[in-house]
Amino acid sequence: MAIDSRATKSADNTFAMAQYQFDQAADRLQLDTNLREILRTCERELTVHFPVKMSDGSIRVFEGYRVQHNIARGPAKGGIRYHPAVTLDEVRALAMWMTWKCAVVGIPFGGAKGGVVCEPKKLSTAELENLTRRYATEISVLIGPDRDIPAPDVNTNAQVMAWIMDTYSMAAGHSVPAVVTGKPLSIGGSEGRAEATSRGCLTVIRETAKRQGTALPGQTAVVQGFGNVGAPLATFLHELGVKVIAVSDSSGAIFNPRGIDIPRLSRYKSETGSVARFMGTDPLGQAELLELPCDWLIPAALENQITRANAPRVRARVVVEGANGPTTPEADAILTERGILVIPDILANAGGVTVSYFEWVQDLQSFFWDEDEINAKLDKLMTRAFSAVSAIADRHDIDLRTAAHMLAIDRVAEATRTRGIYP
Ligand code: GLU
Repeated sequence: MAIDSRATKSADNTFAMAQYQFDQAADRLQLDTNLREILRTCERELTVHFPVKMSDGSIRVFEGYRVQHNIARGPAKGGIRYHPAVTLDEVRALAMWMTWKCAVVGIPFGGAKGGVVCEPKKLSTAELENLTRRYATEISVLIGPDRDIPAPDVNTNAQVMAWIMDTYSMAAGHSVPAVVTGKPLSIGGSEGRAEATSRGCLTVIRETAKRQGTALPGQTAVVQGFGNVGAPLATFLHELGVKVIAVSDSSGAIFNPRGIDIPRLSRYKSETGSVARFMGTDPLGQAELLELPCDWLIPAALENQITRANAPRVRARVVVEGANGPTTPEADAILTERGILVIPDILANAGGVTVSYFEWVQDLQSFFWDEDEINAKLDKLMTRAFSAVSAIADRHDIDLRTAAHMLAIDRVAEATRTRGIYP
């Protein structure tokens, strides 16, 4: 048996970054010291090591995590990511951001996140299924439809959710669809869930354009990441007449100043597995992509992409965080100083968990809504959250990230105060 070696990050600073953002807002709110201590730490952290039978007959041990940051407002909620660089520190940050995200849009969930250190692209489908089922079993001490509900995140999808749902249901002896969201429609998934994060991003882009008095058709966008969030969002923008001039995924970046044919690119990606070398585009460095002049820069991949090093060279008008944590606090300060508006992750990408909430409600009631109804409800919640956050930012003359955190922390703090400290 070999222990799966973990690619180390240069520094585990993601949770420190989440705590820094929390502190900024807590200071503004003059949050009570006790509440501050409770809310800036994660409530439950589980690390698991588990064996997986590989296709060649060998057995490999993988490391995984499930962290619940806070459950004051409802069951823990948040995705599971498969990535070679996943760390406990990162999962803590992602869990904390889920708490704030759910509170920003006002859905009754706390925050959680999970991750497995692995390279999913190098695993066969059977290995991925074995890994998923065993990981689901290991974290079954935490998850459940009224306790903690996973969903897709980086490198996981509806199929992975189906395996988790089935594994959990086998142990329960009956189907438990509400244990995960982002499932296939055939087993209790929701219409509109797959594109929900992107649709939510689109709502905040539309509302921002409205506030700025600009029209979207003819504007330009750059999208980093062509996965769960980036791909549908690029399609929606293209349909609205926005020129998507550059796109990247983990294998490369492409550029066409006249705008990329996104529907054809989507087909190309599903055939070849990447966006690299797409006809009619020029190759571009991953770093260069973030520095292109554009109206909308949409990091929709991983954390720590816009940093102190490249923020002075970002030439977008607005940064819309489709990913979680793509902008470091130092970069935030630089962008704000330079007059670049940042729509923060906990607002911009909250559409995914919002439709996850709709899916969970539908599963619990066994009563399903049509896509128009889902999209309309999503749009309403995102628009409401956008105006609530903008109002706080205007009132205090602060950036949208601090404003979104203030709104969220205030809601979670209120729930904690009202419930009181047990025992
Ligand atoms: N992984 C997504 C996120 O970061 C969705 C989480 C969910 O639906 O629970 O927001």
